[in-house]
Amino acid sequence: MKIFCVGRNYSEHAKELNNEIPEAPVIFMKPPTAILKGKDFYIPEFSSDVHYECELVFRVCKNGKHIEPQFAGKYIDAVTVGIDFTARDVQANQKKKGLPWEIAKAFDNSAVVGEFTPISELPDNQSIKFNMHKNATDVQIGDSVMMIYPIAELVAYLSKFFTLQQGDLIFTGTPAGVGPVAIGDVLTGFLEGTKRFEINIK
Ligand code: ZN
Repeated sequence: MKIFCVGRNYSEHAKELNNEIPEAPVIFMKPPTAILKGKDFYIPEFSSDVHYECELVFRVCKNGKHIEPQFAGKYIDAVTVGIDFTARDVQANQKKKGLPWEIAKAFDNSAVVGEFTPISELPDNQSIKFNMHKNATDVQIGDSVMMIYPIAELVAYLSKFFTLQQGDLIFTGTPAGVGPVAIGDVLTGFLEGTKRFEINIK
């Protein structure tokens, strides 16, 4: 399986990192070894500035290529919240040199995945609400309506380049409010007000 990630998909977050609003979705990938589900997160020794990025994560349910946006809904069946952990210091260094981001973004346990909900059970699949607490305080609040590229367009765009396969995940970018984690922090992600993950930082 593959993990697709989208960068700069919320204008407020692009601004907070001084990035331009992209002309096309910014895509990167993580390997299956990045998945962290129901376990603690250990800050890796190669970074002193690991940031959380809480994001909506969609699950691919059907193989497909060259999918038109109007049919994208047939290829995704469930959604949750997750975290795209990012070694911001490593990323800044890579960006400065124009190098790929993998060592800053795709390392082991960098993709937290919460418990999924079928899209058919959402109150409104055009406005999917999520938020994340750090130590019981809201640090990120998002809504899929705020995404620059909605999920249907992301599915269409991704499938031009990559065959989508059942079980692939799509991390759809983070809203404003990203920040560093420290040992002892607890991150709790919510979809539509329901807890989907709780991660202890070690
Ligand atoms: Zn992200």
